[in-house]
Amino acid sequence: MTDDQDTCLCPTPWPRLITVIEQREYTVTPTADHSPASALYLARCALCRTPYNHPWKRIPADPNQPPVVTR
Ligand SMILES: [Zn+2]
Repeated sequence: MTDDQDTCLCPTPWPRLITVIEQREYTVTPTADHSPASALYLARCALCRTPYNHPWKRIPADPNQPPVVTR
């Protein structure tokens, strides 16, 4: 293992991305461009904790839109 490896080690790469802002964990999603948050904080794989060195944005919490369930 090296310090600069940027490949997720999970069976399914990047199953979930998270970032920690002020000791709270947030789910984030990949985007084409950097967001203000992605310039300041580091996202990483929620499972193997590999740093995600690509643009991402936070997923806004919306109680009216529950997570999509795939059957
Ligand atoms: Zn991973």
